[in-house]
Amino acid sequence: MRIVEHLIGGGRVSGGTRKKDIFNPSTGEVQAQVELGTPADLDRAVELAKAAQPAWAATNPQKRARIMFEYKRLVESRMDELAELLSSEHGKVVADARGDVQRGLDVIEFACGIPHVLKGEYTQGAGPGIDVYSMRQPLGIGAGITPFNFPAMIPMWMFGVSVAVGNAMIIKPSERDPSVPMRLAELFLEAGAPEGILQVVNGDKEMVDAILDHPDISGVSFVGSSDIAHYVYKRGVENGKRVQAMGGAKNHGIVLPDADLDQVVNDLSGAAFGSAGERCMALPVVVPVGEQTANELREAMLPAIEKLRVGVSNDPDADYGPVVTAEHRTRVENWIKTGVDEGAELVVDGRGFSMQGHEKGFFMGPSLFDHVKPEMQSYKEEIFGPVLQIVRAESFEEALALPSKHQYGNGVAIFTRNGHAAREFAQRVDVGMVGINVPIPVPVAYHSFGGWKRSAFGDHGQHGMEGVRFWTKLKTVTQRWPDGSGVGDENVFVIPTMG
Ligand code: NAD
Repeated sequence: MRIVEHLIGGGRVSGGTRKKDIFNPSTGEVQAQVELGTPADLDRAVELAKAAQPAWAATNPQKRARIMFEYKRLVESRMDELAELLSSEHGKVVADARGDVQRGLDVIEFACGIPHVLKGEYTQGAGPGIDVYSMRQPLGIGAGITPFNFPAMIPMWMFGVSVAVGNAMIIKPSERDPSVPMRLAELFLEAGAPEGILQVVNGDKEMVDAILDHPDISGVSFVGSSDIAHYVYKRGVENGKRVQAMGGAKNHGIVLPDADLDQVVNDLSGAAFGSAGERCMALPVVVPVGEQTANELREAMLPAIEKLRVGVSNDPDADYGPVVTAEHRTRVENWIKTGVDEGAELVVDGRGFSMQGHEKGFFMGPSLFDHVKPEMQSYKEEIFGPVLQIVRAESFEEALALPSKHQYGNGVAIFTRNGHAAREFAQRVDVGMVGINVPIPVPVAYHSFGGWKRSAFGDHGQHGMEGVRFWTKLKTVTQRWPDGSGVGDENVFVIPTMG
């Protein structure tokens, strides 16, 4: 049995006596086991990070950037290997897995420009003989705790920026698909990074708690479900750390009567069912405005859903693959049952789907609900599966209120040809990332990713300048070099002003 250990210092090391199974979701078989590390394993990694980080931070940013350039080249050259490994543990189709790696690489590409973004600000002559300048210094040691659904992109969101600004990083991947984060860290060493700057510790809650309580870890970035995100945020902050903790989502797609329905149906098919709906930027709720729009949309969605091809994750013709575990499939099925019990109309039922030759795989057909109401629990909570819910609204205002009042505020999309309505919507909606005729508005790497409300706890988004701000401390220096003439020395007992 293949064992996934930890990457501490310069290579793979064993740690912890407990292990957890890693499945191949397409076959349902256990393909490997991951070691669940202990606080002692974390201590080892932190000691090495502490030893390596000061010299890394003192390395000039252009040299750090050169390693990021080389890393980008190396990861690109291993794209096929990484995408296949990712797909075999996660279940997303290989083309989608390549996208997962590529979106992470976009952040590495951003990090290649780190000398430019770390330049700071400077004011000459802020007062008599006085100059002011600011600099951004690394936090020291950072940690990233990541979810199962983007095992390449999300670790790279975090360490891409953090190591480039001069931190040492320790990644704690999801137990369900840790192999790609391990390979990504190995490739960073191969790119020429010093040992101890990027390490991976595997584990579960015990390891997460050890990270949150470790006195030498200064910053923690978390992505996962909201209850855990909230817990991580509170515990980390209580321990004096800087914490950003991204949580779950329930993204809405608003369809105005003037929208291009063909485009909407095409976009919804991918955004609701792609990656089996296991994306925090998926679009699992569609809100048609007006009865006619709703009826037309429902009619048009049916043949599109009929055409969807569910397949094993390495089938190049499959639109989406299995969900990540049997346990998760049961969870999604339970939400479908809840929806039915609450009185929503189950128009297409994806439960009980079986793939010939892969009967033990964790497959689910697509499901479609209509007449879902805002007070239903199945609407309020995240389902995270191939399930699309239609919530009918009578007016623009009613449609705008739905995502704005929802507990989650990650992403939202509006489909319309009306520029004024779209602009109004983008201004007023209480959600962090907005798409206008764009179903999955994940910001590009040099902008920043971040939801609102229970989709994110903390103050900074991921990557782009928000990422740089999160992973650095701002220091501002006010300097003067007196020449003995006494200028600026008058009245030392009042608060200094620059007048
Ligand atoms: P999860 O919350 O189960 O796990 C995330 C991480 O937390 C993992 O590393 C896991 O080991 C750890 N963890 C699990 N239980 C814990 C506990 N009790 N105490 C401490 N740590 C614990 O999430 P998941 O199922 O891996 O990922 C899916 C979730 O992530 C969805 O809710 C999805 O919306 C969310 N997500 C959010 C974003 C975003 O940017 N907002 C992006 C991707 C995924």
